[in-house]
Amino acid sequence: MIIDVHGHYTTAPAALGAWRDLQIAGLKDPSKAPAASSLKISDDELRESIELNQLKKMNERGSDLTIFSPRASFMAHHIGGIETSAAWAAICNELCHRVAQLFPDRFVGAAMLPQSPGVDPASCIPELERCVRDYGFVGINLNPDPAGGHWTSPPLTDRHWYPLYEKMVEYDIPAMIHVSTSCNACFHTTGAHYLNADTTAFMQCLSGDLFTDFPTLKFLIPHGGGAVPYHWGRFRGLAQEMKKPMLGEHLLNNIFFDTCVYHQPGIDLLTQVIPVKNILFASEMIGAVRGIDPETGHPYDDTKRYVDATANLSAEARHMVFEGNARRVFSRLDAALKAKGL
Ligand SMILES: [Zn+2]
Repeated sequence: MIIDVHGHYTTAPAALGAWRDLQIAGLKDPSKAPAASSLKISDDELRESIELNQLKKMNERGSDLTIFSPRASFMAHHIGGIETSAAWAAICNELCHRVAQLFPDRFVGAAMLPQSPGVDPASCIPELERCVRDYGFVGINLNPDPAGGHWTSPPLTDRHWYPLYEKMVEYDIPAMIHVSTSCNACFHTTGAHYLNADTTAFMQCLSGDLFTDFPTLKFLIPHGGGAVPYHWGRFRGLAQEMKKPMLGEHLLNNIFFDTCVYHQPGIDLLTQVIPVKNILFASEMIGAVRGIDPETGHPYDDTKRYVDATANLSAEARHMVFEGNARRVFSRLDAALKAKGL
């Protein structure tokens, strides 16, 4: 079985974006603010938006199941306040849940959280609980920078975040550490802010001792871990200088990387540097990079090709990357699959 742990609903019907536009307009003129119930999207519209896009590509490329969360750049936690984010997260999560219900063998949900800059992350717990208990979601996306490129929140190792971690441990769900749109002109959203955040999250964990407090907490760092695998030597050396344990012991029981790296040399490096138990297959499809690579003739984000082709993985290791590791890290997914006899 091939499990893609990083997919977003980037192809939702246009009514969703129109609702969000009205919500944003309502921040200035409350008479324009829409009710959640005013958003009408039929099952047929949902079905079509998936069948023509994500599902089509999954079938073409040969992946079986996608862990599916709301469009990351749309989270835009910096817009409005906690009520804004709460209403928006509830709507986006519900749509992912409906997709998972329409295609129960192909999609399983992961939740966006209703974060807001300066607001206690504990305020996200009711939505998290709803998504796990009522929707059967198997993970969450945690934004380490709800300020959208201005980094006003404390590092992930700060007690600020602990209420969320306690809930994650209770449910045994991992968090993908995923920022949203950059509203800082210095950082391009997907080309800089995402990768900066991946690298930053790793370094925050390296500098701290979070996993001493939460030995079973699990973070998935997307986009191949940003700059981390490429600079593994630097991080090892920094950890040594800081008198931290070796990285394998210090971080690699808790931090995992996905394979959203869009060329063969990148996947070769990832699989050479990072232990295979820490690598989970993903493509972030349909996402930031949608074109065809003229050097290969294949889509950049068809990451299965690179994982299939790398000489660094044995058949057993490849199975771990494609399925085994995802089932270990997303234990609720494993339980759901086992309940189906898979
Ligand atoms: Zn993503």
